Amino acid sequence: MSRRYNSIPLAAALLLVLALFLGGTAGAEAPVKNVILLIGDGLGINQVTAARLSLEGGASAVLNLDTMPYTGFSINYAANNLVTDSAAAATALATGYRTDTGRLGTLPDGTAVRSIMLKAKEQGLSTGVVATVKITDATPAAFLVNADHRALERDVAAAVLEAAPDVLLGGGADTFGINPFTKKPKSNALIHRALEMGYTFVADRDGLLNLEITPEMKLIGLFIGGDMSFELTRLPTEPSLLEMAQRALELVSQNPQGFFLVVEGSRIDRAAHTNSIKEMVGEVLMFDQVVGLALEFAREHPGTLVVVTADHETGGLTITGGQPSGANVTYSWAATAHTASMVPIYAFGPGAEHFSGTLQITEIPRRIAELMGMDDFPALKKSP
Ligand SMILES: [Zn+2]
Repeated sequence: MSRRYNSIPLAAALLLVLALFLGGTAGAEAPVKNVILLIGDGLGINQVTAARLSLEGGASAVLNLDTMPYTGFSINYAANNLVTDSAAAATALATGYRTDTGRLGTLPDGTAVRSIMLKAKEQGLSTGVVATVKITDATPAAFLVNADHRALERDVAAAVLEAAPDVLLGGGADTFGINPFTKKPKSNALIHRALEMGYTFVADRDGLLNLEITPEMKLIGLFIGGDMSFELTRLPTEPSLLEMAQRALELVSQNPQGFFLVVEGSRIDRAAHTNSIKEMVGEVLMFDQVVGLALEFAREHPGTLVVVTADHETGGLTITGGQPSGANVTYSWAATAHTASMVPIYAFGPGAEHFSGTLQITEIPRRIAELMGMDDFPALKKSP
């Protein structure tokens, strides 16, 4: 240590340490201003390996994920089950609390807990959620609502809107009352509430890509009635996950105070549930492109932390043989459901080293919050 450090009187040094310990760093001086949290639903280690093997070069190919400097493991069990679901795992990632399967932003006894995204919003940051399933599905919703069960879809949809993030992009137009043929809202549609709240609504890929993003804009894009298609069979009216992430990033990054953006590669899980390697690999490769986008943004915008992780592994995928070139790879699936396998964590940016090692899933948002200078996270929610 330098002489300058040694010259600080002991009492002053102790006070400084105490202040940092008690108060955290003030928002403006926190190392992390922007957070891009990327969640691969069902993304286990072997899902990543299968995607790498599908590239030219096989085992020696390099995914964007492979370039991330810090990696770790997440222990992701639910409070009531060794094998978690997306609701409990996303609640852990969003709130720093472990809960029962099916619950969104609530503890096993029903107590509502505060999400890191809404806490960021309270502090003046922009927020956004992008997914390839219905925007009311477990992972996106856990960052925005408190509900006793993920299946209460209409309630979840209404609560997602009331949470009022700056960007909502994904599937689920049916729940918001959009007519699937005309793409116009039905009379009592929930989307009217969004328009009332000042949201701009886009219903298809052209609408999203041609949209002029303006300061203060709030955007909701619902591109299909239910879950979006697999990347390999995506309809011309549906944007890719990368396109959605690009537009979301453009919008939230306008805020000089910073942003908290969650992008979920939602359908890695769906493909793994049916043990469909080809579709699953297609989903992982698209997700990996979003990783590339996030890393590029973070390199250009210091103060941006990128964390990539999964909620759980799906399918119990194993790679049982093949050539290093990626030829003749053989796969075996142990399940058509989720498994209790640890899942990967990858990090890049200021504080990325805090995401290496073996972490409880609840530690991930706690460490992000600390790096953002949040002083009361995790926390129970005070007002309903
Ligand atoms: Zn699943």
